[in-house]
Amino acid sequence: MTPSAGIYVHLPFCPYICPYCDFAKWAWDDAKAARYLDALHAELAAAPHVAARTLFFGGGTPTTYRPEEIGSVIDAVRARFALPADAEVSVEANPDPSLVAKLAGLREAGANRLSVGVQSFQPAELRVLGRRHTPADVEDVVRGAREAGFGNVSLDLIFGAPGQTEESWAASLDAAIGLGVEHVSCYGLTIEEGTPYATWFARDPSAFAGESLEARLYALAIDRLRAAGFEHYEISNWARPGFRCRHNAGYWRNDPYLGLGVGAASYLDGVRSTHTRELGAYAQAALGGQPIPGESEQLEGPARVGEAIMLALRTAEGVDTNRFRERYGIDVLETYRGVVDDLVAAGVLVAGEGALRLTERGRFVANDVCGAFLAD
Ligand code: SF4
Repeated sequence: MTPSAGIYVHLPFCPYICPYCDFAKWAWDDAKAARYLDALHAELAAAPHVAARTLFFGGGTPTTYRPEEIGSVIDAVRARFALPADAEVSVEANPDPSLVAKLAGLREAGANRLSVGVQSFQPAELRVLGRRHTPADVEDVVRGAREAGFGNVSLDLIFGAPGQTEESWAASLDAAIGLGVEHVSCYGLTIEEGTPYATWFARDPSAFAGESLEARLYALAIDRLRAAGFEHYEISNWARPGFRCRHNAGYWRNDPYLGLGVGAASYLDGVRSTHTRELGAYAQAALGGQPIPGESEQLEGPARVGEAIMLALRTAEGVDTNRFRERYGIDVLETYRGVVDDLVAAGVLVAGEGALRLTERGRFVANDVCGAFLAD
């Protein structure tokens, strides 16, 4: 039976632009945002009929839209894709002071999981990251989310920010834990080409955390969050028992997903496709009833299995070799014997008991480890 799909909706506008960000995003503009919402509804009305399992609003900053505008998309997704009434509906948000007044409306509109882009609890780090909120704003948002009825709140943090130390990172982790949230994501800062941070890095690489500090910061997150009762269920994600992100779990299981909006990616029937990142081209095509420009590729044979291994290795459960045999008809240990032996010898992979898993060190260099399966 084909698993049901996760629906991803991209809302690309932000109140301001952060200097490290490489997402498909634009500064808020009333006319562009209204046209974009119309385009999104047009795309949705013409999208392939899939059975939906979860819904996730990412961005950009989805909460720059009004709750009823987000609600109009939730309603349309429910109607077109038969999203179950109790499905996880996540909305990414920024902890700007204006968010608090929107939380009750978001909950009423059907959102039941809030993912807040905190990044740091240190004012100096927030400044350097170009963020305009304060740690007090985050506390207000989490309190407001509880009052609005959100029982599932996640905070995003960034490690490796310029000027960050082990002490300041530990303090941010403790502040996140202290707010009693259900889920925490920790992402290492990456320098993305074409961003102001890339220019800064080219001028002064010493301003940024090197690999050894980043590894220590990551290890600190693992220790601190584990001690606080969180499960480290994916490379960058920690959850209290029962609160893993169901939408993202679908990606790591290599289940189908349908992405709507500019730059959004889909994976349906073995075809991975990505929409254009040009806002005007996206809106024009969607509003004109034309196919959205973009790229697509059919993933077959070794590429499909390699991709599935790469995704599964990100999770705490790793690659379930029996499940892979049933689903893809291959014996992973046999097919990838050379790669597996090398990675086990390098101390980044553990093989046994029907599973392949990354070690703690392997999680820090996961991209390299997973890449080995793609190249084979
Ligand atoms: S990091 Fe988030 S808030 Fe900042 S520009 Fe990117 S999408 Fe917008």
